[in-house]
Amino acid sequence: MSALSELCQQILACAKCEALVNNRTKVVPGDGPEDAEIMFIGEAPGWHEDQQGRPFVGQAGMYLEQLIASINLTREQVYITNVIKCQPPGNRDPLPVEIQNCNPWLEAQIESIHPKMIVTLGRFSLAKFFPGKSISKIHGTAQKRDNIIYYAMYHPAAALHQQSLRQTIEADMLKIPSLLTETESITEEEPPVQQLSMF
Ligand code: URA
Repeated sequence: MSALSELCQQILACAKCEALVNNRTKVVPGDGPEDAEIMFIGEAPGWHEDQQGRPFVGQAGMYLEQLIASINLTREQVYITNVIKCQPPGNRDPLPVEIQNCNPWLEAQIESIHPKMIVTLGRFSLAKFFPGKSISKIHGTAQKRDNIIYYAMYHPAAALHQQSLRQTIEADMLKIPSLLTETESITEEEPPVQQLSMF
C-alpha cells in the first residue's frame, strides 16, 4: 500500500472530534493522484460528500470540475481535499479545535503529495495558508514558499451564490497554467506567522 493510501486509512479511522464522529456517515480524506501537481483545499465536507466519502461532489463540486476543465484538466488529475475531513453537524463552520485536530492529516497529505501548487478555496483554507489576509485583496495572486506555490481563490460555492464572483473565480482559475510554468520566476516569501490559537 502506498504512503498516501496508508495515510487515508488512518484518516478514515480518526476519532479525535466527538461531535464529528457522532455526526458523520463517511470520513472524506481526499481524492486524486499521489503525484498531483495541484492540490485544491476546501473547507469541510457537506451533505453529499458525507454520503459518498468524496470531496466536492455536490453543486460546488460540479462547478469546481467545470473550472478545472477550463484549464484542460480533469478532477482525476488534481488532488482535492478539505481543511477538515468530516462534515460538521448542520453544516456549521468547523470549530478551531476541529481544525487543529485535523491539521496533522492535511500537513501529512501535503508532505506525501508534495504538490507544485496549493489552491485555497474558501476562508478556512485561506486562514491556514495566508493568515490575516483578505480574500477580496489576494484572490488570484500567488506566493511561493519552500518551493510550493500558494494560490488563493474564492470558494466555488460563493461564486455559485454570487453571480458577480463568477467572472472573478473563472479568470483566477485561468491564471493557474502560466503560474505553474513560470514557477521559477515567482520569488520565495518568508513563511507566514501561524495563528497558533487556531491551528
Ligand atoms: N465545500 C467544501 O469546502 N468542501 C467540499 O468537499 C464540498 C463543499
